[in-house]
Amino acid sequence: MRTRLRIWLIMLAAVLAGALMMTGQVGGRFERGLEPLRFAANEHDASGKVVVVELDAASMAAIGRWPWPRRHYARAIDQLRRAGAASIVFDVDLSARSDPQDDAMLARALARSGGLVALPTFSQQAQTGGTRFIDSLPIAAFRAHAALASVSIQPDVDGLVRDMPLATTTAATPRPTLSAYIASRSGTADATFPIDFSIRPASVPRLSFAALASGRFNPALIRDRNVLIGATAIEMGDRYAATYAGVLPGVVVQALAAETLLAGVPVRGGPVAVLMLALILALPIARARRASIAIAAFAGATALLAAAVMIAQHRFLVHYPLGIGIGMLTVVLMLSLAQIVSHRFREEQLTDSATALPNERALLELAAPPTGAIGVVQLINYNGLAAVLSPVDLAQAIVRITERLRLASADGLIYRVRSDRLAFALSTEQAEEDLVAGLRAILLEPVEVAGRKIDVAAVIGTAIGASVAECFSTAAVAADEAAAAGEFWHGGITSRDALERSVSLMGELDDAIAAGHVSVHYQPKLHLSSGRVRSAEALVRWYHPTRGFIAPDVFIPLAEQADRIVPLTLHVLKTVLADVACWQRDGHNLTAAINISAKLLSNPAFNAQVDRMLDAASVPPTALIFEVTESAAMSDPDSAIATLNAYRARGIAVSMDDYGTGRSTLTYLRNLPLNELKIDRSFVQHARTRPQDALLVKSTLDLAHQMQLTVVAEGVEDAATLEFLRALGCDYVQGYHVSRPVPADTFLASLATWNGETPAAVAGRTA
Ligand code: C2E
Ligand code: CA
Ligand code: CA
Repeated sequence: MRTRLRIWLIMLAAVLAGALMMTGQVGGRFERGLEPLRFAANEHDASGKVVVVELDAASMAAIGRWPWPRRHYARAIDQLRRAGAASIVFDVDLSARSDPQDDAMLARALARSGGLVALPTFSQQAQTGGTRFIDSLPIAAFRAHAALASVSIQPDVDGLVRDMPLATTTAATPRPTLSAYIASRSGTADATFPIDFSIRPASVPRLSFAALASGRFNPALIRDRNVLIGATAIEMGDRYAATYAGVLPGVVVQALAAETLLAGVPVRGGPVAVLMLALILALPIARARRASIAIAAFAGATALLAAAVMIAQHRFLVHYPLGIGIGMLTVVLMLSLAQIVSHRFREEQLTDSATALPNERALLELAAPPTGAIGVVQLINYNGLAAVLSPVDLAQAIVRITERLRLASADGLIYRVRSDRLAFALSTEQAEEDLVAGLRAILLEPVEVAGRKIDVAAVIGTAIGASVAECFSTAAVAADEAAAAGEFWHGGITSRDALERSVSLMGELDDAIAAGHVSVHYQPKLHLSSGRVRSAEALVRWYHPTRGFIAPDVFIPLAEQADRIVPLTLHVLKTVLADVACWQRDGHNLTAAINISAKLLSNPAFNAQVDRMLDAASVPPTALIFEVTESAAMSDPDSAIATLNAYRARGIAVSMDDYGTGRSTLTYLRNLPLNELKIDRSFVQHARTRPQDALLVKSTLDLAHQMQLTVVAEGVEDAATLEFLRALGCDYVQGYHVSRPVPADTFLASLATWNGETPAAVAGRTA
């Protein structure tokens, strides 16, 4: 659960990082940094379908002056036409008039070519930084016989050329760019495509203009090729820095763009798809528990992502950003590594390095001792062992001991809290003496290390308590005491309060019963329809000579823990049998209820003694009700049902106590052999004012009556509640409003008042 949360947090951070990279600068930088790699991975030669006729240094030297007289261009067109060029595209400015004779010659050559030639148009700022653009078109005489294609190379903000438009608008007309024209691709104005710079610029076939003009060239080089005519000589200044390819003449950039489009029209993909893929690939990185695995997962994810992006780029001509994805993977790697390191660090802090057992710190981090008890084993001869054993063997010996102690540990964990001390949460299901005897047997057996049998001398201290720290330190002190006293075991007590209670119970309860300090009070159950008290609940009372009254809520649970509940309950039963016999002799047909602890239902010795007592009693078992709580019936239903059936077979009525506080439904209770249901006072007390409590009381009454159960409402403290319950059809009420629990003789004396009889009538009956 916790690791899952951790993974989600990492992934969330990754998504945030991705979003940041999408909007921020860093992502773009990283993206541009990766570009060369992406082109280098697929470097290849041009198709050769585009030939550059270059106005190069040799041509400059041959022709001698600039601008060249246009008759040279006219001649070139004728040469190319004759050589069978597929198309001829000029990347040369022809927007101004020159010598009329030359212009006429070029116009005629264009006319002769029959539409084979495309001439450039371009748009440029009227002034630097201005918003007005001037469109430059070839002069009218040329336009008449040529197609027009726009020239537009726009470097990115970093000065490098990456993309090229498919078309631009010049003189209010959208026109294809040179490259789109050559490749016969169309697109909306200003829609751009990425130029494929993995095509080697040097592989684009070139022909010097001088060679062409003089006719000294191989026509096969031209046949069926698209010819681009433009300047490559440095002094022409038409040069661009391109990503990956470096500085290129404008005409070569055009050629590469045309080559790109001949293979298809590439598009740029958005970052979202990449981020999604990266997110999926990041999952194993986030889940890795070891740094090496995280790094390997990162390498794998990066490779897969890069491969996917490369395939998209070169196969499907979609250029997705890669840097943003790798950036996200990197963020996940960093977070995962940080997590792994901090986790490792924490784990190191919580383990004993020699044995890899959890240490004292780990013990103290427990929220609470699982069973409320901790044992500390102190190795008496640790120093002796350390002197004869190698550190490795010593650690081995400790591990061997812990393997055995594990049986006595509540959660199977043994902590090495000091070099010579082991601690663990006791499984206190066993009785204390049994546990200690078991531990002694475990620790007496020598351990085997490296083929040698080694005797371990150990003592143990235990303590019960709610806080781990308190419990542990008390158990440690108890172990010290045991060692000092030369005994195997000492039990510590965590607080004065606990000390007092357990001392009372362990030592004093039996004496208190014998001395008559433990008595029974009775609380009447008023039968509503007859208005008479027909029954009484027996509630135990302990008056301590020095401490005063001890509430049953305090000592009953302790008596249960200390196995003193059997004698206590038998004492109550004996008292009740005697009191009921007395009442019956007095002419009162009363029953009495006794509370039976959950533990007792599965205690055959207790039930046998109950039988014996009933056999000897002068009152019939039908005068008795045994009150049990649902927890008793829930923990071991089969044995509980069997016991309850046995009680009923004897004639004892069975009552379900504290109904409503547990988890069981009435439907479940149907399976139990019950005569009576007692609705817990927490519902009764507010039934009049809280609708949900009223509902529980009402529905319980209905269902219980359907199941033929008598219903008793506990904790009735006022007349209004009594009337409310009467109106609902409740059978009995019990509570302070009728009477508090009182001693047996007071109970007898008060009956007449409760039953609404006059003292005279009572006198008449007793006479
Ligand atoms: P319980 O079985 O639910 O007993 C009813 C408790 O409610 C009694 O507390 C009683 O004094 C109290 N009570 C009665 N009417 C009212 C009322 O109108 N308002 C309020 N606020 N309380 C009322 P008590 O005597 O302190 O006993 C507490 C618990 O101790 C009992 O709860 C029962 O679970 C246990 N107990 C008492 N005697 C014995 C016994 O002999 N054996 C066992 N195993 N448990 C006993
Ligand atoms: Ca009760
Ligand atoms: Ca109760």
